[in-house]
Parts: sequence; C-alpha cells; structure tokens
Amino acid sequence: MTDTPEHHREARALGPYRVVLLGNPNVGKTSLFNHLTGLRARVGNYPGVTVERRVGRIRHGSAGVRPIELADAPGTYSLSARSEEEQITFWEVVGRAEQDRPDALVVVLDAGQLARCLYLLVQVLELRLPLVVALNMADETDAPSDLTTRLAERLGVPVVTTNGRTGAGIEQLIRQVEEVLGASKSPVPRFHVAYDPALRAQADRVLDALPEGWKGNVERGRALAFWALGSIEADDELEGVPDALRQRVAEVRESGGDIDLGLASARYAAIDDLLREIGDRPPVARILATERVDRILLHPLWGFLVFALTMGAVFQALFAGADPAISAIEWLVGTVQRVVANALPAGVVSDLICDGILGGVGNVIVFLPQILLLFLFIGLLEDSGYMARVAYLVDRIMRSLGLHGRAFVPMLSGFACAVPAILATRTLERRRDRILTMMVVPLMTCSARLPVYSLIIAAVFPVEAGTIFPVQGLLLLAMYLLSVTTSLLAAWVLGRTLVRGRSVPLLLELPPYRAPRLAPTLLMMKGRAMEFLREAGSVILVATVLLWGLLHFPRAPAHASAGGDVSAEVTPLERSYGGRLGKLLEPVVQPLGFDWKIATGIIGAFAAREVFVSTMALVYQVDGDDEHVEPLRDRIRAEKTADGSPTFTPAVGLSLMVFFAFACQCMSTLAVVRRETQSWRWPALLFGYMTTLAYVASLLVFQVGRALGF
Ligand code: GDP
Ligand code: MG
Repeated sequence: MTDTPEHHREARALGPYRVVLLGNPNVGKTSLFNHLTGLRARVGNYPGVTVERRVGRIRHGSAGVRPIELADAPGTYSLSARSEEEQITFWEVVGRAEQDRPDALVVVLDAGQLARCLYLLVQVLELRLPLVVALNMADETDAPSDLTTRLAERLGVPVVTTNGRTGAGIEQLIRQVEEVLGASKSPVPRFHVAYDPALRAQADRVLDALPEGWKGNVERGRALAFWALGSIEADDELEGVPDALRQRVAEVRESGGDIDLGLASARYAAIDDLLREIGDRPPVARILATERVDRILLHPLWGFLVFALTMGAVFQALFAGADPAISAIEWLVGTVQRVVANALPAGVVSDLICDGILGGVGNVIVFLPQILLLFLFIGLLEDSGYMARVAYLVDRIMRSLGLHGRAFVPMLSGFACAVPAILATRTLERRRDRILTMMVVPLMTCSARLPVYSLIIAAVFPVEAGTIFPVQGLLLLAMYLLSVTTSLLAAWVLGRTLVRGRSVPLLLELPPYRAPRLAPTLLMMKGRAMEFLREAGSVILVATVLLWGLLHFPRAPAHASAGGDVSAEVTPLERSYGGRLGKLLEPVVQPLGFDWKIATGIIGAFAAREVFVSTMALVYQVDGDDEHVEPLRDRIRAEKTADGSPTFTPAVGLSLMVFFAFACQCMSTLAVVRRETQSWRWPALLFGYMTTLAYVASLLVFQVGRALGF
C-alpha cells in the first residue's frame, strides 16, 4: 500500500499541509477562502504566468497540529485543460509528480447548479484525491433538506453545507478537512462512470505513453490518460507535455470515434443517475426571476440601450467624481513643492526635488482617483452579475472582429488608462485573446491624451466670436471616435496576422443576479491601486527625472547667461541635451509638420503622454516668470517659424493630435505588457506598429492638409 496520504507527507519535508479549493467559476470559492483564512491572503502570481495565486493559512484550533495552507485555484468547469488557467488548475490539483499533489482538496459545488458542478467532481474522484465537498449556496435553492447527507452517502466522501456569504458551516468544513488530513488512507469513492470499452482501450494506449513521473497508481494513471485524451490537441496552449505523449494522443484520436463526446456523455449519464437518486430539482423560482430580467438586459435593442445608459453614467461619474480628488491631489503636490522650494536654497537640488521628483510623483497619483473609481464601478457591476450579461450582448460584434466577448471591459477601461485596462485582460482565459486585447487597448483614448488634445485644440482652433459651430467639442469627439474605430480595425488586422488563433465561443454562464458587496470590491481596488502605484510610479518617476535632467543640463555657466546679448547666443534650451536631441530628430519629424521644439516635447511624451504638456511648458519657458504667466496655449499660438508665419497651422495641430492618438507613448504600458506577457516580443510589436501607424497617419494628415492650404 503506497498510496496513503501518510506516504506523501513523509515524502515531502514536514512543512504545512497543502489544501486546494477547487470549483467552477462563481460557486463561492473566494468567499469561502476568505472565511477560512480570515482574509489574510497572500496574493502572488503563479510562476511564469500572470494568473493570480491566492494562498492563506486556515485558522484552525487544534494545537500542535501542522499548519494548513490553503490555495484558491482559478475557477474551472473541468480538469481538461486548453487554456493557461485551466492548465494551472490542473497541475495545482494533480501535482506534476505524484508526491507534489495537495494533501487534500475542498471541492466547492453550487447547490443550484449541481449537474454542471459534479462534472468537475467526477474527474477529481477518478484521480482518487483526498477531498471534502463543500455544498455552497444551498440558501438559494429549494433543495431537499437532507441533500447533504444523501450526496455524502452516494459519493462516499464527506460533504458539508456551507454559505460563502454568512460563513455558516465553516467550522464544520475545517473539522472535516482536519479529519481527511489525519486519515491514513485515501478514500475509495462509491461513484463510478461506465465508460465505453472502446474508450477504455484507447485510454490504455495513452496510459503507456505517460511519463513515468506522472503515473502513480493505476487509477491515477487512467484518469490522467483520460485527461490527456480530452486536453491535448494540435493547437492547445499546454506546456510541459512530452512529445511522445503528444504523438500517442494524436494517433489514438486519429483512430476514430468522437472521444470528447464519449467522455462527456458517459460522465453526464452517471451524473444524471446520481441526481435522480438523490432527488435534486433545479431551483425554479430563482431561474424564473433571473430569466425575466434577462429578457430585457439580453435584448438586442433594450439590452444595448441599458448598457449605453449604464456606461454613460459610469463615465460621467468617473470624470465628475474624480475631479475634486484630483484637484485635492494637485493642491497637495503644489503645496509640498512650494514648501520644499522655500526650505531649500535655490539651485539644482531644489529644482530636481520640486520639478523632477515631486512633479513626477504628482503626475502619477493624479490618475489614482479615476482608476479607483473605475475599478469600484467595474467591481460592483461584475459582482452583481451584470457584466456577464454585457459580455454576452457584445460577444457577436467583438467576435466578428476577432476579439473575445469579455475583452470589452478592458477596452472600456482603456478610456481611463491603458495600464489598469491591460491588467483587466486577466479576466480572459486564453493567452491569445489576452494578447490581442493588450495589443489594441493602448489605442483607446486614455485620460493622458486629454490634456494634450485640450492644449492643442485650444491653441490652434480658438473659439472665434460669432461662430455657432462648436469646432472644439466636435474635434474632441472625432478624436475619440477615431480611437475606437482604429482599435477595432487593428484587432481585425492583428487577429488575422500576428495574433492568429482559434476563435472560441464565449462559454458564458450567466450567474444569477445578486446584490453586489462592497468589501471584496474594496479589497480588489486596494490591490489594483498598489499595483498601479508600483508599476506606473516607478516608470514615470524615473522618466520625469531623466527628462528634467535632459532639459536642464549642461547648465549655462552663471556669468555667460547673466545679461549680455542673449539673442546672439544659443539659448539654454538649445544647449541642453534635450534640445540637441530635438534638433537631431527635427529632420525626421519635419515631414509631419513639427519643428525641433515640438520634437523635444515629443521625446518627453514617449515616457508618458502627459509629460508633453509640462515639457512644452519648459520648452517655451513659460514656467520661469511668475509675474507674467502667459497661458501656454497663447505662447503656442504666438510661436513663429523662421519666415515669420505661425508654427501651429491647423494642419500641424491636426497632425500632432493624430500622432498622439496613435503613437505608443507610454513606458508604463510597455512595462505592463512586458510583465503580463513575460516576453519582450509583444511590447516591441506594440511599440513598433503603433508608432509606425502614428508616423504614417500624421504624415498623411499634414501633407494633405498643407496641400489643401490649411
Ligand atoms: P468564486 O468565483 O468561486 O471565487 O466565487 P465568489 O466567492 O467570488 O462568489 C461569487 C458570488 O456568489 C458572490 O457574489 C458571493 O457573494 C456569492 N456567494 C458566495 N457564496 C454564497 C452562498 O453560500 N450563498 C449565496 N447566496 N451567495 C453566495
Ligand atoms: Mg474567485
């Protein structure tokens, strides 16, 4: 007898017990996890991928017992794995080698969706893993009161009724887990699936090809063979599958029969029998109520109308609600800058701290209120079950363009900032969908473009007295429409070229509507905020300090700049490294209508777009003189070329805006894409295609505009 839990425990160093929470999405795993661990989760990533991994210690009373470490596995409908997350769940549950497997599983079932939940449980039972079943959400069903006992009896494993909202049943669940951990033998379930003999024979052929380390006992081997048959295929995303096994699976699949169907129908037949025996009925009342609401929210016309109104409200709230907080942060940063400036003697150090460091930090945290609000709204809408409906609604349109239906949330968040939007692509399960979405999200008009657009529009297209035509507003609207159209087109093109892949239908399950809860949403907001500050803060801070240095050095010798004939000398800006870079770049951007000063501003903007405004301010030296502060837009309007004509013609203004619409000017975005994809390839592609697009589009706009006389 080598397959006892004791055996595994001895094989491993005597660390904490490892227990994994497993279940379909939305059955209440995370809620139970929070109750079991008292909200003290460590959140990290699985090695090499960006799927979140939450681990915590179970609070359990028995003194002297080894601690129990609990992991919250990503939700999954089956152990068959084709996406990254499914594969992670699979290894988490099964263990790469037999001695790596967890000491026990807690399989969470939604009492109202038993048939679907049992499919996963069947696969776990076949693997003979020690487990406790948590029958969750029984409060939402009209299930028979003895459902728990009957289920336990029929399955031959312990079953506990729990409630993820109230925490009822948690103590009992912990006791059962302790009991399973202390047991000397793995349980032998009483539940069996009658597979077709031909299917069994096929599985046995795959069994022979399994790597030695995977096999373990006979049951585990056969279950893994079934898993391999249902998971490995030509274009799966699985890693670590030996070629020999891949080869064998392909042969067996060749050899005939619809294996997927065979596996599924045998399992569902067994599940149907079981459900009939224990007398489970689906919760009619809840289903009817949900269906009534869905008839409106999923309606092709009314559904979109409700969605449009909801999003309109969210955006309005985003801008209106964040405004006071933004002003407060700006005021705070300004105050600190003034205090520091007064406390320190004027000079390089004071400049660096005030303009470079404080300016840089200020630039970042100004975005925080909007980001927090965005995640608050998304969190609440998601928790209520509404987001799943919208994904369903837009799935057809998005899919015809090659995007996944659920990609719309990240796309929408892109209007605020590409960084959280890219983090939001984590809700997509397949790597290919995630990457395609990341590649087009940065084209959405993020809030950092807004100050740039406003500046250019105000400077180049001033409101003329007596005109009724609202040019300014229309221009801004046009820029937003341009960005949406372009990103959808880009998805269409990229999805057929560089990010090719199967389009998978949205296997969306529509969870019942529930009142959203604030606490978990706040928790998520906190996590996202920290992430944002860490990611973006470091990049923008470094970039601003660098840029400040580029524009300030080399410094003019004190005696040379004091008095004298200034116009004959080179200006400090021309002498600075930044200015020289601008001059160097001038020939490249001249065809787009930009001179060397604009080029200097654009260099700064590649760190972060909004840096353009402050760079232009530095470049046109409006920041110096406190007495005659001329608004930047007036300086821009007054700027003349060598022959005395205005620098900023309408053609230049449009070309500049188009450049900002398309160019990938955001280090944080690139850094986040790098981290999320774990590769330099995708950030390089993103930067390359967007910047090329920007150059070509600006060139066209300027040359055509000039030819037309603007
Ligand atoms: P996960 O996807 O499995 O991690 O599920 P969550 O823990 O995020 O829960 C999904 C939703 O179900 C949340 O809105 C929870 O409040 C709700 N929920 C969890 N457990 C229960 C329960 O026992 N009863 C009811 N009525 N709702 C629950
Ligand atoms: Mg969860």
